[in-house]
Amino acid sequence: SPPSPPPPELQLQDVYIAVKTTRAFHRSRLDLLLDTWVSRTREQTFVFTDSRDEGLQERLGPHLVVTNCSAEHSHPALSCKMAAELDAFLASGLRWFCHVDDDNYVNARALLKLLKAFPQTLDVYIGRPSLNRPIHAVEPQPHNRTRLVQFWFATGGAGFCISRKLALKMAPWASGPRFVDTSALIRLPDDCTVGYIIECKLGGHLQPSPLFHSHLETLQLLGAAQLLEQVTLSYGVFEGKLNVIKLQGPFSPKEDPSRFRSLHCLLYPDTPWCPQLVAR
Ligand code: UDP
Ligand code: MN
Repeated sequence: SPPSPPPPELQLQDVYIAVKTTRAFHRSRLDLLLDTWVSRTREQTFVFTDSRDEGLQERLGPHLVVTNCSAEHSHPALSCKMAAELDAFLASGLRWFCHVDDDNYVNARALLKLLKAFPQTLDVYIGRPSLNRPIHAVEPQPHNRTRLVQFWFATGGAGFCISRKLALKMAPWASGPRFVDTSALIRLPDDCTVGYIIECKLGGHLQPSPLFHSHLETLQLLGAAQLLEQVTLSYGVFEGKLNVIKLQGPFSPKEDPSRFRSLHCLLYPDTPWCPQLVAR
């Protein structure tokens, strides 16, 4: 038979972006994301939370997913949300799954550029390695035995992406209740569990990328030009201090403590609430 035509070039519409949040952060974090990057990726973005919220429902419609996961910071509760994200992605039929936290900024242009570089047939798991060495886990074996395993994983707080082909292979350890079971088995958080499934069960490898960022690194080190090229950014507290990207305006740190509004105006100057440059 003749060779099948190459798949069409990747578009943003092929990417599924899952945002993990919780009741306590609907106002303080989600509103900022909806005003900024989510306004440019609305059709691709799904917010996974644990509690109903009329205000959010109004803004997001079916893009707000109220899971049955509990609103606590425990491994099972967080793994429950990751499982819901993966299941919804598999059901969506889209080509890429990307997970982010609710304190991440996603630069859709940079994300698309990154993902476009991979042939569609590859198994890809890409993100920022959480540690500079593989993590160890104790894997229970039959007859009360155990096996020490090691693997790399991408920090959930910096965001990561998985190609559809790889996500489908994860299903035996990740679909439905299995993700929470797998996470409980190795007694590690959701992002470690993703790495465990891909590296230890499927023989895949984390592809490290410096373009994903969490607030567990010193964000001020990124230069102004670099900032516009990063796939994800973050803000938060690190070692007791506010950790944010370094950006001159247009908004003051008081008006825009996360710096996400200022960044958004640099990336999308035509945004109605950004200070408009006077036409000359
Ligand atoms: N989160 C959650 N349930 C909780 C606490 C946090 O789903 O009980 C989510 C939160 O919305 C965020 C992620 O987990 O997307 C990480 O939380 P946070 O940034 O507060 O903590 P970190 O681990 O970054 O210090
Ligand atoms: Mn965080």
